[in-house]
Parts: sequence; C-alpha cells; structure tokens
Amino acid sequence: MTLSPATSLTPDHLTTSAQHGGASRRGPHRLASTSCERLWALRSSYGVVAKYDPPLRLQGTLIHTCLAYYYAERMRPQPSWFVERPIDVALAKDGEGHPDLIRNAVAVFEAFKQRVAGDTWQPICAEEEFEATIGEIDPEGSDTSLNSEVVTCRTDLVIEVNGELWIVDHKSTGGSYNSDRLAVWKDDGEYKMNWQIMMNLHILRTPRNVARLGGRTVRGFIIQRLKQRPPYDFDRHPVHVPALAYQATPRTARNFVAKEREILQKIERGESPTPNFGACWGRYGACDYHDLCAASSKSEQQAILDTAYKTLK
Ligand code: SF4
Repeated sequence: MTLSPATSLTPDHLTTSAQHGGASRRGPHRLASTSCERLWALRSSYGVVAKYDPPLRLQGTLIHTCLAYYYAERMRPQPSWFVERPIDVALAKDGEGHPDLIRNAVAVFEAFKQRVAGDTWQPICAEEEFEATIGEIDPEGSDTSLNSEVVTCRTDLVIEVNGELWIVDHKSTGGSYNSDRLAVWKDDGEYKMNWQIMMNLHILRTPRNVARLGGRTVRGFIIQRLKQRPPYDFDRHPVHVPALAYQATPRTARNFVAKEREILQKIERGESPTPNFGACWGRYGACDYHDLCAASSKSEQQAILDTAYKTLK
C-alpha cells in the first residue's frame, strides 16, 4: 500500500470539526485500537478511513444527529454548530445518498420526542469533547515522559437532573429477536465494565473539567437506548461501574499511549505495524479494514485502497 504516515502522536488531521459528531481526537476507541498495530496505524497515523459507513452504523449516526439537535435546542447558550447548521441540512449531509435512512431516523426521533415530552433532564452540553493529560488521570505512573500526553472523549450529552450531573450516551439498537421491545436491560451486561464509560468518567472528573462544568463532578453515566424500528421503544439506565476496574482504567490508558508511541517509532524506522488477525471480527462485525487485509495480492490491496477508502487531510 502506498501511504504517508503522520509523524506525531496526536496528528492534526484527526482534529474534529466544530460541528456535532465525529470521532474524538484521541478517544477510548482510538486508544483501544492499538490491540492491532496495523489498525491503529491505518486510522491514526495514515488517516485512512472507509469512504462509506455501513448502513447500520450510518443509521445510528443519523439518530445521534437528531438527538444532538434536540438537546442543543434546549441549551443556553446553544452550541455554535446548532446555530450555524439547521438539522435538515445536517441530516442531508450526514446521510447523503441514503434518504431511506434519514426518513427512518426522523421517524425514531419523532417517537422519541413524544416519549420524553415533559422531561426533567436539563442538557448542559451536547456533543462536546473533553480532554485530560495522562498525568492528570494517572499521576502515579512511572514513565513521566507520557504525563503530558492528552487523551480525549466526546460525550453525547451531559445533563443535570435532580441537582446532579450525568454523562449520557445514546445507543440505538435493532431490538430483541423475540420481542417488539428493547432487549431486557442487565446491570451486569455489556456496559458494566465498559472502557469508553470508565474513560469518560475519569476525564470529566479531573479538576479542570470539574471547573469547566461549573465546579460540579459528574455523578455517573447513563445509557439511553432507542429501538431503530417500529414499534419504537426507549429506556434509560444508570451504569454501575465496578470500583476495581474503574481505579485501574488510568493505568490502562497510560499503557495504550505507550503502545501508540511504540507503533509510531516503528513506522518512523520504516517497519510495518504488525497485524493482529485475532481482532478482525468483533461483536459489531468486521474491522473497518477487513477488506484491505483480506486482499489476495498487493495489487488487489492497492485497488481496494484506491476505491473503497480515502485519506483524511
Ligand atoms: S482487519 Fe484485522 S489485521 Fe487488518 S487492521 Fe483490522 S484488526 Fe488489524
């Protein structure tokens, strides 16, 4: 593959735009992607991304767009992206070429608005990125050269309810196979020990982000679920984060950042990042680079790279 790597641990081309949505610059997903050096390098060093999102992911993105606008409208002051770009323009841009998915997202959104009419949630920020240094979240780590490295998270929403602040993440799902309802919520299910949730909490609880939130520390993390197809169904659940895993999370983040540095140094020496074929297929389907890695020859790989992927500037 013919690619040019970025030579910084925090490449500028990953900086998010001022509008809603988009990946966090150095968020939990990027850090965890170091489990496959090739995956991390393609996304975070070479800036290679798929030209088109899979429909299921795009559907989720469009529903997130609707919710971001719903909550931003209720904030004072309203975010600049809300003021500058109306929701129909945002949906048309995000869902370009998929009017069916836009219609479905709007249908979910209309049902959601009816369900939450009279809601006591007061949105504090929507689709905002927060950052902290490794030294702030893990002050006892031995490799102090990593202390100034910045990690980030982009929260879907921070709300105030009953005098407390909570981080909220929207999860849109297809629902349960045997039922018209969302799958039964389990406190000890997939969100109990969740890397994204634990990192979000650590970053927002640093002193500078407590100050940014008016001197208040977030109480916890809520998952707000939405069913993507009729009959629509919605619910909300606070997550009970396990104490020991939560305490160990900052050290894991430090180790991920160390791994990022190791991969980057490897690239700078002219070596190829090592693929991890044990990580190609996960719970949410194939890795974004599955087709590239599954090519039968270098020429086929180059052809796939040229047609199905683009490079972020
Ligand atoms: S397909 Fe597998 S080997 Fe290739 S980048 Fe993804 S996880 Fe790594």
